Amino acid sequence: MSETHPFTIESFYKFVSEGKLMAAKCSKCGTLLLPPRPVCTKCLSTDFKWVELKGEGKLLSYTVIHVSPMQFQSMAPYTVGIVELEDGPHLPGMIRDVEPEKIRVGMDLKVDFETSIPTQWPLWPRYFFRPP
Ligand SMILES: [Zn+2]
Repeated sequence: MSETHPFTIESFYKFVSEGKLMAAKCSKCGTLLLPPRPVCTKCLSTDFKWVELKGEGKLLSYTVIHVSPMQFQSMAPYTVGIVELEDGPHLPGMIRDVEPEKIRVGMDLKVDFETSIPTQWPLWPRYFFRPP
């Protein structure tokens, strides 16, 4: 059975709803696009395949959000960071399960998935980071 997903952000979130962190890998130059785009940012190829990432990496930078979009107001203040994944790409996301004052640049983080919210795209974000 071969199921094809277009290389779009919508597909990316569909995988996230299944608990998978998937990137588009360029068949020509090997660049990993996360989130996926229909055209390779490096060589402009449109030939991709999906690869599943481990979702482990290190925190590059973070921001504490005090004033948040409506749907996250009950969670504020919360922390959003950019994580450099072992696989290469940088992925932004919310950081949870660690007290804000204990968050440090360079700490190990791991992607985890939220499965309790109803699936309806677009929703931001349905994955988050936590200490491994
Ligand atoms: Zn490429």
